[in-house]
Amino acid sequence: MGIDGARNARTAGETKSRQRRVLVAGGAGLIGSHVCARLLDAGHRVLCVDNFRTGSRANVRPLLANRRFTVVEHDVVEPLQLECDLILNFACPASPRHYQLDPVYTAKVNVLGALNLLELAHRLRVPILQASTSEVYGDPAVHPQTESYWGHVNPIGPRACYDEGKRCAETLFMDFHRQYGMPVKIARIFNTYGPHMHPDDGRVVSNFIVQALGGDPITLYGDGTQTRSFCYVDDTVAALLRLAESPPSLTGPINIGNATETRMIELARLVLDLTGSSSPIVFEPLPVDDPVQRRPDLSRARSELGWQPDVPLRAGLARTIEYFDRLLNGTALPAPAARSRSARTSA
Ligand code: NAD
Ligand code: UDP
Repeated sequence: MGIDGARNARTAGETKSRQRRVLVAGGAGLIGSHVCARLLDAGHRVLCVDNFRTGSRANVRPLLANRRFTVVEHDVVEPLQLECDLILNFACPASPRHYQLDPVYTAKVNVLGALNLLELAHRLRVPILQASTSEVYGDPAVHPQTESYWGHVNPIGPRACYDEGKRCAETLFMDFHRQYGMPVKIARIFNTYGPHMHPDDGRVVSNFIVQALGGDPITLYGDGTQTRSFCYVDDTVAALLRLAESPPSLTGPINIGNATETRMIELARLVLDLTGSSSPIVFEPLPVDDPVQRRPDLSRARSELGWQPDVPLRAGLARTIEYFDRLLNGTALPAPAARSRSARTSA
């Protein structure tokens, strides 16, 4: 059985024998919660390790009915001792608003968190995948971004705790691979959006949708000509699971994203159109070091994973708007994005 489904399994016994115990660090966040759900659907056991700093218990609550799903509240900055066959690391605040709130902590999560999970993988002799980011390319001088591009990052700016933290994590992954022969995978994820984003997440897609649905001004930073390439979460997760089950020789890094490049002003207009909102667009200052353009070169993902995204931005936004509409109408509000470390143990 592959990690994303029982393609070749014939009998219940065969399925059981190929069932894997997957540790998903950051499993209560946007991407992690969808990964947990897909792994459970495919028959695996899932150990979601999260400190609920930016993720939400509501994202994983429906999964708790499944006896193959367990939640462990833990901060990956601290070492952990758990048993598993595969580790996927998504644990890190991903929105500029959240990762800049406590930059020293963000750097620790990226570096110490990666180190603790790598040490666990080394002790257990299991493969480990790292959710890296297009931010390792910084404000890129090469466009679109290929994996061979070394990037253009300000090492002392306000985004550095995240960008340089992720770059250092990539270094650690490759050093564990070279030094100990460990099977590692590095996914460079480009802007991913979709249901399970928190309304207070602060990233552009959730901000614009929440503002449009509430009739509040759409906050456009800068003149709106900067670009991003947005990938719907189901597409990102499909690619991540393919990478996770790829042969040990494939370490990456490998870009995962959508190659359709969009200006932020176009995104604002699209959200207004899809929501039917009459919110005004207000222009606010561009944050320091905000990258001007970003688009993945997906050649490697296509050739190595046989994958390409297939949810167009309009369709993905429509699904995300539907999710926020339900959420904001009070039927399923998540717990507030946790900023304290005193959350409870179970979801
Ligand atoms: P998210 O904030 O929704 O999820 C992150 C999860 O990690 C949350 O559940 C949070 O509570 C948890 N977490 C944070 N610090 C932790 C810690 N110290 N210990 C345990 N758990 C911790 O973000 P996301 O968008 O789902 O991103 C997931 C991963 O993918 C992150 O590592 C992020 O850097 C990476 N990534 C995401 C994107 C994107 O556009 N969504 C792009 C590039 C990379
Ligand atoms: N942005 C914006 N309004 C917002 C939030 C973000 O115009 O309310 C812009 C931001 O300046 C950046 C782009 O949208 O140019 C994407 O920002 P996001 O925080 O989503 O992700 P990142 O910068 O990490 O790609």
